[in-house]
Amino acid sequence: MKRTAEASSSWLRGAAAAMVLTFDVDAESCVLAEGKHYAQHPGVLSHQAYGPRVGVPRILRMLADLDVRATFFVPGATADTWPDVVTSIVEAGHEVAHHSYSHRRLVDLAPDEEIADLERGLEALGRLGIKPAGHRSPLSSPSERTASLLAGYGFQYESTLMDDDRPYLLETDRGVLAELPPHWTLDDFAQYAYLPDPSIGQVVESPRKALEVWASELDAMRRYGCLFVLCCHPFLSGRPSRVEALRELISRALGHGDVAVLTAAEVAARVTADPLIDIRPHNSRRTAATNQLTEAS
Ligand SMILES: [Zn+2]
Repeated sequence: MKRTAEASSSWLRGAAAAMVLTFDVDAESCVLAEGKHYAQHPGVLSHQAYGPRVGVPRILRMLADLDVRATFFVPGATADTWPDVVTSIVEAGHEVAHHSYSHRRLVDLAPDEEIADLERGLEALGRLGIKPAGHRSPLSSPSERTASLLAGYGFQYESTLMDDDRPYLLETDRGVLAELPPHWTLDDFAQYAYLPDPSIGQVVESPRKALEVWASELDAMRRYGCLFVLCCHPFLSGRPSRVEALRELISRALGHGDVAVLTAAEVAARVTADPLIDIRPHNSRRTAATNQLTEAS
């Protein structure tokens, strides 16, 4: 496919597009963040435990079959509850990144709570020998402080903001981070998230439909030199037909011959080294513009 140049593509190193497969291993954390009383709800907990218990091993086998590496965003709570599963991800050669400790919305936390949660997550991963290079905010809800905090703690990238489909550098008051933008289109929550209580979603779509949505975006991204960041959750995408849809999607990407399948940290390293990459200030300008709009209305 002929590419249309829109932004620096030297980070692609000649590929038409890049694919990053990400798995958010939320397990029980995302329901406990909705209410501590779910800790006494075996039905709800079992729905979430399916992810680490069945989904992760199955996904790891599929990735090994295709000989590709992925990035697993792991809340500290998951690392504490399922240490052997998280260790198995590392031992299979994949990247493990930070996904908060408790999976609460960062935008709702007080500044000291956000720092405590970030540090607790680092400690939990650290106990398994993991020093994460990247971070994804739970529920796509970073605070205005998050990017700056991450830069201050030495993170190299985040994968949270949705204002592009190509990576860029985010300039904060404590340093620069690569941003690898995800999107709801490429998130399995929109396809498969169904749980009545807590109500995390109300859809059970066909894996064929999910595959169609994702494959059409992948195919088109090759024209525009984009970064395809797929975000899946093992408690959703670990089910048999859904793993097979993922297998088909990755095989399709490999079959194109011009899609680089990389970990998030690999993309971040390329982006950071790209002298032509777009560098965007975080918060200051954007907040000023938003404040103006708020005042004008
Ligand atoms: Zn999550």
